[in-house]
Amino acid sequence: MSTQDDNSPKQYRDLGGKTVLQRTLEAILSSDQISLVLPVIHADDGTAYNRASASLTDARLIAPVTGGATRQASVACGLRALEDHAPDLVLIHDAARPFVTPDVIEDVISALQSGAQAALPAMQITDTLKRTDNNQQVLTTVDRTNLWAGQTPQAFPYPLIWKAHQAAIAQNHENFTDDTALIEWIGESVTVTKGDPQNNKLTTPQDMRNAQEKIAMTHLKDLGDIRVGTGYDVHAFEEGDAVILGGITIPHTHKLKGHSDADVALHALTDALFGALADGDIGSHFPPSDMQWKGAASDQFLKYAIDRVHKRGGLIAHLDLTVICEAPKIGPHRDEMRKQIAKICDLPVSRVAVKATTSEKLGFTGRKEGIAAQACATIRLPFED
Ligand code: MG
Repeated sequence: MSTQDDNSPKQYRDLGGKTVLQRTLEAILSSDQISLVLPVIHADDGTAYNRASASLTDARLIAPVTGGATRQASVACGLRALEDHAPDLVLIHDAARPFVTPDVIEDVISALQSGAQAALPAMQITDTLKRTDNNQQVLTTVDRTNLWAGQTPQAFPYPLIWKAHQAAIAQNHENFTDDTALIEWIGESVTVTKGDPQNNKLTTPQDMRNAQEKIAMTHLKDLGDIRVGTGYDVHAFEEGDAVILGGITIPHTHKLKGHSDADVALHALTDALFGALADGDIGSHFPPSDMQWKGAASDQFLKYAIDRVHKRGGLIAHLDLTVICEAPKIGPHRDEMRKQIAKICDLPVSRVAVKATTSEKLGFTGRKEGIAAQACATIRLPFED
């Protein structure tokens, strides 16, 4: 899942185990009316592109070409590269619209086959529209009759759109925001076809979060094999001034003793995931005898277990952790621990529970000799054939 920072180009960001771009390419290739797909990528993105497309073996997907400084310039690079292929029709699509459906694709193609010069999938505007000044003060209400929000793929006879782009280059017109605008500019007509509310462009961080949620919910419905695993771990105190619990550092009169960073909470969660997978335990995957784990940060154990879930085609539905100790007090750190565990696991915080209890001064935890943690992981897997 996602470990990239939020500044990486959005088409290469993770969306439920695949990049946005891979999902977009798969969506386009799902239409049997498409005979060739030519990606246009940024000069710096060759490696990212190769990674994103590595699992796509469809022969219709050809090697990418490098784009230009603007969207319009990049489209022109793509159109130039298609000259040798001499297609009849061309569809131009945003890489950041992974939810395009075969219906949207087929509608723009059939509009052209019915004689349209250019086809634009679009949604009729239903919200009230306001124009404001720069201080967000409303100046006027805009009449929304016959107003549409344009999407992609936009479809054209190849010779017409290439001619329009060449004319724009020749006249230094560089700021068209979409390709149908070039067709309007050369005085040809554009026909609106049926857009899809799901076919939105992923632009803001909130768009990405909504898309993640949508993909995860779709996957969850498909994953009927519900598995539950438990984990339990104990680490003793030794001399020190802070414990690491749930990936965060909590000041304390002692530290926890262990081969790694002794994060008893993450160890219990890791074992719960191995339990749900029926796939050994933390000791079998990370033997204490192996010196490479000495002092290791335990989030890597947890991430490894999550990776094993993803490799089986599964998703984590819920994690529930109980920390058992007299001290330090967990309550003041509970929210930060939930957030940190959610971040490590790439889960919404609402799917991570952290609880704490003492053992009423009984037993080794009661005598403040160490901390115990128990965890429960619910995962969803595809049914195996
Ligand atoms: Mg341990």
